[in-house]
Amino acid sequence: MNYALITGAGRGIGRAIAERLARDGYTVIINYHSNTAAAEATKAAIEAEGGKAELLPFDVADSQAIESALNAWDAAHEGEHISVLVNNAGIRRDGLLVFMNEQDWHDVLDTTAEGFYYVTHHVLPAMLRARNGRIVNITSISGISGLPGQVNYSAAKAALIGATKALSKEVAARKVTVNAVAPGFICTDMTADLDEAELKKTIPAGRFGKPEEVAALVSFLCSDEAAYITGQVISIAGGMG
Ligand code: NAP
Repeated sequence: MNYALITGAGRGIGRAIAERLARDGYTVIINYHSNTAAAEATKAAIEAEGGKAELLPFDVADSQAIESALNAWDAAHEGEHISVLVNNAGIRRDGLLVFMNEQDWHDVLDTTAEGFYYVTHHVLPAMLRARNGRIVNITSISGISGLPGQVNYSAAKAALIGATKALSKEVAARKVTVNAVAPGFICTDMTADLDEAELKKTIPAGRFGKPEEVAALVSFLCSDEAAYITGQVISIAGGMG
């Protein structure tokens, strides 16, 4: 069985990636933090299409929760391993740096950068042993260009880009690819509070993107055809950035 773990797959971009990878034939492992109803709805939607999905809740910023959830998964799936990892879970806590409190700084960094380390560190050894693996990190154009009001988020997403490039060079010889996808504005709960009418004037394509469009790119990066693409940051932003 081919397993794909997608963090933050209960809603938004993660959900679209889970649905797409299930259609590609993976058994998807749906990680989420606290919204069980949304994660169950994702699983039900996949199963309704004939796909396979499992739920695996944990907080990606909590190393002990990750170890215990993934150790339990390993024990329940002897002889199997996760061949695709999409580090997608992320949060925003926007505000100008002069007013930003320590909690908002750490929450965003911990979810994105620490989350990448803990989950990838657990999943990578089996990919290296199998000489087969795909890691896709969901960053943001904010991590490439930097956006005012998002110093914490831009820093976290830039960290993910650096980690992507460095790790790709460590594991390429073992046929594990590591790439980053950098969305612009995508219609999800995360962007629901933004002024879409105003912001889309700044997007050359004149619209926000759809989660399914990001999922299609992730699907390609996880395919056999993408075996020679590694260490790259691919923007999907309607021409922004
Ligand atoms: P979203 O709609 O807010 O969904 C976020 C998902 O991440 C939810 O499933 C949530 O779980 C999960 N999550 C949050 N914190 C978590 C944690 N500590 N541990 C485990 N899961 C956690 O967000 P989205 O718009 O789909 O964003 C997905 C990714 O794309 C993020 O990394 C985001 O930074 C990035 N991105 C988004 C946009 C955009 O315009 N939407 C643009 C660029 C980059 P619960 O459901 O349990 O809360």
